[in-house]
Amino acid sequence: MRLRNIPGSREVIAENRWCIPETQKCKGTWHRIFGNENPVHIEIGMGKGKFIMELARQHPQINYVGIEKYSSVLLRGLQKMEEAPLENIRFIRMDAENICEMFDREETDRIYLNFSDPWPKDRHAKRRLTSRQFFKRYDLILKKDGIVEFKTDNVNLFDFSLEEVKEAGWRLDEVTRDLHQDFHMNQGNVMTEYEEKFSAMGHPIYKLIASR
Ligand code: SAM
Repeated sequence: MRLRNIPGSREVIAENRWCIPETQKCKGTWHRIFGNENPVHIEIGMGKGKFIMELARQHPQINYVGIEKYSSVLLRGLQKMEEAPLENIRFIRMDAENICEMFDREETDRIYLNFSDPWPKDRHAKRRLTSRQFFKRYDLILKKDGIVEFKTDNVNLFDFSLEEVKEAGWRLDEVTRDLHQDFHMNQGNVMTEYEEKFSAMGHPIYKLIASR
């Protein structure tokens, strides 16, 4: 998702009370940032943030961090926060390649990846958020019993991800090729913006949950 560049969006984000600047040394300080010891769940590539904001609303005892590469996209999420503020959520505008600069070892409990960019060319495989290179990063920042949850409508990216989970030495805990028809896995499912769009077009939604 890349919206047109919105002039001034970087400045708005820099001053926003829900945004943590990428330059802030927040590694190891997330419990202080939130002012409690609650678990920290993150979504990488949150887009406009519909999914993570709904989770934060439903689970006030969990802290959420939304990560988004583009300020123009993140800005849309921040506008929604102004309308319905939540205390248990923060945002970072950054490329997730640098995620280990922002979170300490085992500082997070769960990572959500939703409708991640497919990067269809083989030579770009390592940019996919479910590549073995990204699982190495997740291995560092996730608690030992932490999990990665991934949803997509893209069968090629999903099949690639199943292989990468195994290559990375992780375990597949749950897998479905039609989430919305899977009674067990669909319980409590919060739809993302892309999920709403693609399921309305009749695409099945694929989901996996991985752990170590
Ligand atoms: N998760 C949302 C959903 O399901 O509706 C948005 C999906 S959109 C296809 C993918 C989003 O991930 C885009 O907003 C994109 O900017 C962001 N993104 C892609 N690669 C990223 C990266 N390396 N770091 C942070 N955000 C990234």
